[in-house]
Amino acid sequence: MTEGRIPVVAETVAGETMRRVVYPGSFDPVTNGHLDLIVRAARLHDEVFVVVGANLAKEGLFSVDERLAMLREVTRGQPNVRVDKFRGLLVEFCQTHHISAIVKGLRAVSDFEYEMEMAQMNYRLAEIETLFMTANPLYAFLRSSLVKEIARYGGDVSSLVPAPVFAQLQKRLAAG
Ligand code: ADP
Repeated sequence: MTEGRIPVVAETVAGETMRRVVYPGSFDPVTNGHLDLIVRAARLHDEVFVVVGANLAKEGLFSVDERLAMLREVTRGQPNVRVDKFRGLLVEFCQTHHISAIVKGLRAVSDFEYEMEMAQMNYRLAEIETLFMTANPLYAFLRSSLVKEIARYGGDVSSLVPAPVFAQLQKRLAAG
């Protein structure tokens, strides 16, 4: 990083600078909490890239392609939301796609310490900003791993995930 250098990450379309952000996560699967954040971020920016981190070979309940398909289905009504995956460094994905900021959701103080460290590292690496949005209190308790655990034991998660995700969860868990 050169001190004082302003990175060129924003793309100009018809003379206007695109306010383009990325919302990264594992989305295994996407929940109503994620979706709430995606819709709110899409109101504030020209384009939101929702990206699934495909770095870790770590087995999820759903494959990366299945997560992408569910994300695409539930964001179909959002014309300025794009769904993609990334490998390697998120800041490199940002530079390649002319994205100037990362959006993260904060559910509780416990999210803060890790997110703060990541935000500072991403700024140090490539001068990519991180914007924090507070979770909708309706969904502040929600995380994908908890949804999967409850569903596995037969709990009703129909109000916690979008309908197509609920259908996929039932199918996957029934299949064992
Ligand atoms: P999870 O913690 O549900 O497995 P991810 O790792 O996919 O989710 O999280 C991706 C991003 O979404 C993180 O910034 C996380 O803080 C945010 N996030 C997750 N759940 C919620 C929620 N219920 N409300 C707001 N933001 C959330």
